[in-house]
Amino acid sequence: MGAEGGRQKAEGQRQEQPSAIRHPPSADEVWAALAHVPDPEIPVVSVTDMGMVRDVTVDGGRVSVTFTPTFSGCPALHVIRDSIGEAVRALGVEDVEVRSTLTPPWTTDWIQPDARERLRRYGIAPPAPAGDSPLITLDPEPTRCPRCGSLNVRMTASFGPTLCKRLYVCESCREPFEGFKSV
Ligand SMILES: [Zn+2]
Repeated sequence: MGAEGGRQKAEGQRQEQPSAIRHPPSADEVWAALAHVPDPEIPVVSVTDMGMVRDVTVDGGRVSVTFTPTFSGCPALHVIRDSIGEAVRALGVEDVEVRSTLTPPWTTDWIQPDARERLRRYGIAPPAPAGDSPLITLDPEPTRCPRCGSLNVRMTASFGPTLCKRLYVCESCREPFEGFKSV
């Protein structure tokens, strides 16, 4: 939802450049290109799937992209920044600015609905919408095994391979899996 707001704002700032030899891409074209930039840690979803891209502004030949990393502790910040910059430059844009912002902080609510399903198939338990539970800061929502659907899972580490995820093991099918922290 936040991404939609950013998109409309970006379109409002779009400018026609009839005299330019190479027309700058529209904000829509930039969004479409960013939809192919994979999350550096989870290749089945893109940075737009994860709701990380907050704003795209095309101003003449200059393209500015603002993104919010999924977690401030994620070590992939510079990878995301470079990937976004490369995707925009591939559209023929030379003047690219990629900014990251932590305000407002990323929330698992920004993950696109179809991406949640892909995360589940990939073996990562999708987070429950953070707004669903008033106890979210005290008690994480029940996590379901992505393989068998069992709720009988046990957290084995509060921080997975990155700060973004937790490690679980399913007590029903014994499958270890990763889950997102809802934030
Ligand atoms: Zn299971």
